[in-house]
Amino acid sequence: MKNIWHIAFLFFILLSCDDDKDCCPSGSDDNEVTIPLSLYQKIYKTTSDIYIENGFVYINTDGVPDHKSPYFLGTQWESEKYVPYDGSNPFVTNFNFNPNRISEGNIRFKIPISPKKSSTTTPTSMGPIGVSLNGVPFYNQYAGGGAPLSNEINSFDQYNGHPAPGRGGGGGRYHYHMEPFWLTQNYGKNTLLGFLLDGFPIYGPEENGSELNSSDLDNHHGHSHPTSDFPGGVYHYHITSDAPYLNGVGYYGAPGTVNE
Ligand SMILES: [Zn+2]
Ligand SMILES: [Zn+2]
Repeated sequence: MKNIWHIAFLFFILLSCDDDKDCCPSGSDDNEVTIPLSLYQKIYKTTSDIYIENGFVYINTDGVPDHKSPYFLGTQWESEKYVPYDGSNPFVTNFNFNPNRISEGNIRFKIPISPKKSSTTTPTSMGPIGVSLNGVPFYNQYAGGGAPLSNEINSFDQYNGHPAPGRGGGGGRYHYHMEPFWLTQNYGKNTLLGFLLDGFPIYGPEENGSELNSSDLDNHHGHSHPTSDFPGGVYHYHITSDAPYLNGVGYYGAPGTVNE
């Protein structure tokens, strides 16, 4: 009698598993993941501990890069962190040293820890759209007024970033629109580079030893498959050297918020 109940119980488990798609991850686009705190803790330059509360992770940074830059000239960090432009950025054809200088901010990211595909696409806005491992924000593929980045690219330094115009309220904010060379040089071209505001992870421009470009990705600039951080599969963005570089039509999921 006991065995019959045992078998019936197993049968019930099998049936309910069949009915409940959440219990049997298929590795599809809609595969839900919850990002562990340990992965957010790869973000190593923060102004307070990274913590999770009510389904969101909170990440606070000052946005000042941990690498050197020409844009430290005349700032409080000049003696340790200023270097002239060294001519090494392959995207820069004629370096234009812009008048903006790096300043310290207080950027507070609130990002969902269980990102999922949204039925509507929220376009990215100007200002931070994500956070990189060294706490520097990612910006989207546009210059002011929705113009293409073409002219701005010449003001990118040897680490492929530059500060925003003005002072205060995001002025002087150093940011990356494209591949953050400091991170890919130090951690590899295929590594986790950070997270967009919708919570989906961002990876480098290479995968399995070959370079990706935008045509390998969907119109949000991502795709879904297993990665070393997510053996069960995850949707993720890739940075590519062709436009739109990091994000296409908007967030794949519903974005969290950022305050600065
Ligand atoms: Zn910019
Ligand atoms: Zn990929």
